Formats: sequence, structure tokens, C-alpha cells
Amino acid sequence: MTQPVVARSDTVHHTLVPHEVVLLLETDLHHGLSEGEATLRLQRFGPNVLPQAKSAGLLVRWLHQFHHPLIYILLAAGAVTGLLGAAVDAVVIFAVVLVNAVVGVIQESKAEAALEGLRAMIRTEARVLRGGQARRLPSQDLVPGDLVLVEAGDRVPADLRLVRLAELRADESALTGESAPVAKDEIALPRDTPVADRRNMLYSGTMATSGTGAGIVVATGAETELGEIHRLVGTTETLATPLTRKLIRFSQILTVGILTLAAVTFAVGAARGEPAVEMFTAAVALAVGAIPEGLPAAVTITLAIGVTRMARHRAVVRRLPAVETLGSTTVVCSDKTGTLTENQMTVRALWTPAGIVEVTGSGYAPEGQLLDSAGHLAAPEENAALYWSLLAGACCNDAVLTFNAGQWALVGDPTEGAMAVVAAKAGLDRAELVSAHPRLAEIPFSSERRYMATLHRLPDGGLVVFAKGAAERIADLCAGQMDAAGAIDPLDRAAVLAATEELAGSGLRILGTAMARLPADRMKPAEFNPGMLADTLVLTGLQAMLDPPRPAAVTAVQACHDAGIAVKMITGDHAVTAAAIGRQIGLLADGGQREGRVLTGADLATLPNEKYPEAVERATVLARVSPEQKLRLVEALQARDHVVAMTGDGVNDAPALRRADIGIAMGRGGTEVAKDAADMVLTDDDFATIEAAAEEGRGVFDNLTKFIVWTLPTNIGEGMVILVAILLGLTLPILPVQILWINMTTAVALGLMLAFEPKEVGIMRRPPRDPNRPLLTGALMVRILLVSALLVAGTWWLFEWELAGGADMAEARTAAVNLFVAVELFYLFSCRSLTHSMWRIGPCTNRWLLAGVGVQILAQLGITYLPAMNQVFHTTPISVGAWLHIGALALIASAVVALDKRLRRQIM
Ligand code: ATP
Repeated sequence: MTQPVVARSDTVHHTLVPHEVVLLLETDLHHGLSEGEATLRLQRFGPNVLPQAKSAGLLVRWLHQFHHPLIYILLAAGAVTGLLGAAVDAVVIFAVVLVNAVVGVIQESKAEAALEGLRAMIRTEARVLRGGQARRLPSQDLVPGDLVLVEAGDRVPADLRLVRLAELRADESALTGESAPVAKDEIALPRDTPVADRRNMLYSGTMATSGTGAGIVVATGAETELGEIHRLVGTTETLATPLTRKLIRFSQILTVGILTLAAVTFAVGAARGEPAVEMFTAAVALAVGAIPEGLPAAVTITLAIGVTRMARHRAVVRRLPAVETLGSTTVVCSDKTGTLTENQMTVRALWTPAGIVEVTGSGYAPEGQLLDSAGHLAAPEENAALYWSLLAGACCNDAVLTFNAGQWALVGDPTEGAMAVVAAKAGLDRAELVSAHPRLAEIPFSSERRYMATLHRLPDGGLVVFAKGAAERIADLCAGQMDAAGAIDPLDRAAVLAATEELAGSGLRILGTAMARLPADRMKPAEFNPGMLADTLVLTGLQAMLDPPRPAAVTAVQACHDAGIAVKMITGDHAVTAAAIGRQIGLLADGGQREGRVLTGADLATLPNEKYPEAVERATVLARVSPEQKLRLVEALQARDHVVAMTGDGVNDAPALRRADIGIAMGRGGTEVAKDAADMVLTDDDFATIEAAAEEGRGVFDNLTKFIVWTLPTNIGEGMVILVAILLGLTLPILPVQILWINMTTAVALGLMLAFEPKEVGIMRRPPRDPNRPLLTGALMVRILLVSALLVAGTWWLFEWELAGGADMAEARTAAVNLFVAVELFYLFSCRSLTHSMWRIGPCTNRWLLAGVGVQILAQLGITYLPAMNQVFHTTPISVGAWLHIGALALIASAVVALDKRLRRQIM
């Protein structure tokens, strides 16, 4: 076999007509490549992936950790300490800096790995024709020559030369910067046409925003235009969120404040005539102790753990801030189809002007019967309206039913799948029908248009238009209706709408079907457009399909309500269908009778501006809403101070997803455009996942607060201990290296373990967090100051007591260090819940924390009893009596904290 000529991005595919591209790439315009050929080409050209941008090496990342004001201070302190002759202390300071950088790199890599893992969870698929069969493939399996099908909402998976299209437009801003969608066609272009003007090409990484099309892959992976750009600019991910930024800013301000304080301390001491060396060391100790250096890292790691936990619930966070925001969400606006319902459609009834036909059987297996009201088999041959309704449903349809390993499955839209199945149940062979009525042109379905129409050639050479869509839209387009004998009567619009409402009342989705016969010379396929449909069509019937609510949605809606989160169903479906489903899942608990709980897009359009936000806030079911209206809905709710989570799946949902505080896209049913605009993607499309993610979001926020409430007293306490010593001219009870020890070991072994804290009991029974409320409430500030005071008082008291009891300086200091750590350790247990007592939450529910405590205890024994460590940290073994004092004081301190908690019992 000759090798097909495959070109690089500077090739001439845009100058060729489709037929020449087919020859050049040795493929087939209608069947695509064979599987065998595709496999060979995959080996030859490699997978269709962009080369990974190289991330910075470990060494560079490690060095980057030193770029921090605090580290400069520590390095300067180490250098001066060394010059002053305290070599061991200098080495300790340097060692701490080095270890700190290692810990920093590990934490950063972990957080990045968590996010990287998430990206891998969102796989892009492409629809391809291989050997004439439509298939969904991971985009990376595409090869040059593949025939790819695209439709509105798809991300273009490779560079394609278009060979067929209908109303196709693409957003090429990723490539050209031009944000208005570009209309596409198939006509060959001059060679020097710039990339941005090659209308017959679709480029990898751009998005199809409307219409449908088919194209031949001309370049994959690095060979695409996008690959070219990718080579030039690597992508960088940032881990920053509003909260981390706020905290970084907070610690920067704190650093400046503390440095000033340290300088003042130094000056005061020096003015009193204290030796400069000692004063300098003390000032460094103050700075080192008081600066909460672990804070930003702990925040990032807590968020990353939250992200991983959410991923376990099948909610993939694309932008880290969403984790925080989820905890304060007050309204979730959810799509109906596929999110609150299963998106498993089965036609249950067919209505024609001649009467109703029931359909048995469920799922996509074409097994079931059509029964008339008397229970007899309804034969399409005896009812022309029924026949043409089924035919329209089968032909104006892009779904493909497959039978694999004993299972019927669907590739395509479930609504269309259901219509294909019911035709098969009626004994109509779809493959035969489709080949007997070749499709000449189409008007694709869109959520705004709410219908789809196709133009076909009839076996007798004439033309026929088939249309299907929202019942009232189809009724709008029809002038007549067909009776059982095939005769055409004027449309009885009221009867059609009454039948629609009645069927919709039990939660069924109703689609109207219509047809129009045209003489062969009446229309050129290229002229087929929406404008020519009006009043030419004849209504043939209604198809009523069941899409059952997801069982988990009922409990999830209830859980949201308990948590003070309002749930609104925003759907393109009929108001009566939507209200019925709303009742089934508990959205309209009062039966929907209360005024204004169900609104339609038309209601919204006529509401005066000043009434709009309030009406939207009150409504729980919003039906026949177009994607454009979603944006205004989000804005109105935000104007009423809501934090809004909004789901979406279509191309036109993107602006609303971006505007919402949390945009949520559907991983399975959603378009790539929607996923791109979203903060979070649900890999199972399930509403219950949103509720689970909101719960995790609350947990993450709690854990962040817990870490801060735990860590600040340590810093304040350490700073105060030194400050008091210098201002009062007393000996330092804790030395700088010892402070470094406390900070380093407790932050990693104790504080960080709070990130693994399970969610609090009753987390979904409290109201959402007000995003404007400060992280630390007054009650928590008081607790932080209380613990700081306890640390300072306890440390001083024990230090003096030990000295008075005859202990030497090293012993008294070792006791003070151990007390400090012991109080922090006990306080850690208290911080596991900000409101409940530690007994209430169960002491053993966080194994990580218990392990951390074990490590910290060993570390304390090490610093107290190991001679080598004694030498480095100026410590010495202490007496049993001293340990007893430490235990007693730590217990007293935690009793005081417990009492404070009990008295307040106030939520963060
Ligand atoms: P949700 O917004 O909850 O996902 P939805 O799926 O009903 O609801 P759309 O997809 O915008 O929203 O559909 C709107 C209406 O268009 C449907 O109620 C149905 O009547 C009609 N419709 C849906 N799919 C098709 C289709 N493939 N062809 C023709 N009409 C369709």
C-alpha cells in the first residue's frame, strides 16, 4: 500500500475540493477509514495529543521556594548568627530553610498532581465514521484521513477539511483571537488565504458553535495549527484562589508588622544596654516565631485535598476557587434533562388526531408494542398520521442504535433515540426507511429553535420535509393536520395543545412531528431554511416520552433544602412536564399551587424589570427558558445577594456558566464549549453530585478555618513570649532554634493533619456561609487570643518554676518547649471542631491526625533525650516532675478552651 501524503500545517488542503482531499489522504467520503487502516496510521503518526509543556525541573522548583521575604530574613539571620560565632545555631537555621523548601516542593507537587489527575478525568471524545459506522472515540485515537462528524458544542479534535456542513459556525478565538463565530463552507480557496479566513477548514482546539458538519482529518497532534502555537507558548497552571491571595496578602502585611516589632524590640533592648548579639538573636526569634509561614501552603494543600475528595464524588473542579465558593452557594439552578432526570427516554404514547396509542417496553431495545385505546395492536398501515409521525421521527433523526454483547445502546441524543426505537417497535425498518428517503438537507436542532427539520427525496422522486420538536413550536409551523386516512384538515391547534398538556401532566416530554410533501422542482436542497417551513407543514402527531427522575435527585434536593440552599429547575422543556417532574422530586412541595412557583420563558420576557429579580427568586421551576435567558437569571439572583451555582450543557449556556459564581458543566452530555466555560464538571451529570460537592466545599472551608484557628495562637504565643522577655529584660525562655523547631515540626506533623478532618456532623443542616463574613469571627478571635495568652502564661510560669526549683537554664527551656508543644497538641484536638467538644466528634475519627500526634510525641522525646539533638537545640533531659507539670498545665489550658467553647457554642 502506498503511504498517503499527509501534510503539515502549511499545506494546501484548503485549496482542494473535497474529492481531491479524499484522494490525497486515501480515505472515503462516506465511510471514512477502515479500522485496520486507522490502526496502521495510528502507529505511523502517533496519538492525536499535543506535546506536554515541560514543567520546571525539581531543582528549579526547589530554588523557587527560597524566593520569599521570610526566607530572606531567615537566611540573613543564619548568616549573621554564623558570623557571630554560633555555628551550630547557624547550621540549624540553614537546615530549617532547606527542609522548609523541600516540604514546599512536595506540597506544591502534590497539589499540582491532584489537579493534573482531574484534567485526565475529563476526556474528549470525537464522533468518527470508520468503515461506514458512526463511533465515539477518544480524540487521541484520531488519525489523518479519519472522517469526523462535528456538531454545535463540540471542540474540534484535529485539523479538518470540511466536506459536508449545515449552518456550521465555529468560535476560533483560541486560534485567531477573533471572538465572533465564523461561518463555514466547503468551497476551495486560493492558496494564500490566511488561516483565519480558511472557511473550509476547522482547526483543532476551536469550538463548533452552531450547525453540523463532517470533515477529513488533515493533521493531528503537534502537526495541527494549535500544536504549532502550543510549541511556542507553554501553559502554566496557577493554584491561587481569592482566599489564598487574601491570606498571602495577610501574611505579607503581618510580616512587615512583625519585622517592625522585631526592630523595635532590638532597639529597646540595645538602648537598655543589652548585648547586641543577644538582642539580634531575640529579634530574629520573634520574627521567626510570629510569622505564620505554613499558612499559604496549608491552604493550598487543604484545597487540593478538597478537590481530590470532590473528584471521588465525580465532581471535577476545573478552577480551584470553586471549592471555596461551593461552601457558600445559596442557589443551585439545575437543568432538568439528564441532571435531575435520567435522560433515558422511552416513547410511552403517540397521539394523532385520530386518537391515542400506547407503547409498551422500556429502554433502547426495540421490543414492545403499539396498542390502541381498545388494547388492540395499532398498525401504522391503518393510520396514515401515525405512519408519517413515526417516519418523521425516524428520518429527522441522527441517533444511532447499536447492539453489542446482547445490549442495545445509543450513540446520540436520547430524545432521538426514543423516536428511533418507537419506529422499530411499530415494525418500521429504519435503515430501509433512511435509504429509501435519502436526506438532502437539514436544519439542525438548537435549544433556541426547539425543532429540527430535514429535507428528503421520496421514492417517487418528489421531496418531503420532516420536522420534529417542541409541540407548540411544531404547531406554530403547521397549517393543517393529517387524519388517519391521510387527508389534511385545518389544524385544530386547541386540541393539539390540550393533548400536549394532558400528556405532559404526568411528566412526559412531548414532541410534535410534522411533514410536507413538495414537488421535486419546488426547492433546491441548498435553499432549505427555517423561513420556508412556516405554514407549509402538516402536523402528524405527538410523541410522548418518559424520562424518569433520578432517584438520588429526590434526596439530594431535600439535603439542599435542609442546608438552606434553594434549588431551581431551569429547563427548555414544557412547563407542565417540568412542573410534574418538579413535584416528583420535591421541588414543588406544595404541589406547585402557590402563585409564581412555575414560570416560563415567556413570563420572564414580559416581566417588568423591577419585578424580575423577586419573581425569579420565588420561582422554583423555570420552563421553556432559552439559554440567553439563563444569563439574566443568574444576574438577577446575584442582584438579590445569592451565590449562584448554575448547570449547563449547550454552547449558548457558556455565558451563564461564566457569570455564575460556580458554572457547572455536564461531563457526559455537555458540550466542550460548556465544559470550557465551567468551574466544575460533573462526570456523571447527576444533580446529587452537586449536593455532594457543596457538602465537600463546606468541609474544606471548615478545615481551612480550623487550621488558621490552630496555627495563629502558636505564632502569637511565640512572638509574645520573646517580646515579654525583651521588654521586661528577662532571660529568653525559648531560644530561636527551639522556636524554629516548634514551628517546623508542629505545622507539618500536627496542623496539616486538620486538612484530613472529616466533615462535621450536621454540616448540611446549617445555612450557607456568607461570603462577605470574615474568615475569623469575633468568637474565634477571642479563642485565638485566649490560647495565645495561655501559651505565654504557661511557658513563663513553667520556665520560672523550673528555675526556682533548681533546674538549670537548659532544663527549664526544654520544659518550656515541651509545654508549648503539649498545649498545641491538646489544642489541636479542640480545633477538630470549632463548635462541638472533641468527645462529641469522636477522638479517633481522623487517623492521620493520630499518626501526626504520634510522630510529634516521638520528636519531642528525641529533642529531649537524644544527646545529638540536645546539642543542636540546646536542650537536655528533664525530670519526671517536669513532665507532670507539663501534662497538668496542658490539661488546664485545654479545660479553659473547652469551657470557652461550651459557653459560646457558636458556629464559625
Ligand atoms: P434541559 O434544559 O433541562 O436540559 P431540555 O433538554 O428539554 O431541558 P432543550 O434540549 O433545550 O432542553 O430542548 C428544548 C425542547 O426542544 C424540548 O423540550 C423538546 O421539545 C425539543 N427537543 C429536544 N431535543 C430535540 C431534538 N433532538 N429534536 C427536536 N426537538 C428537540
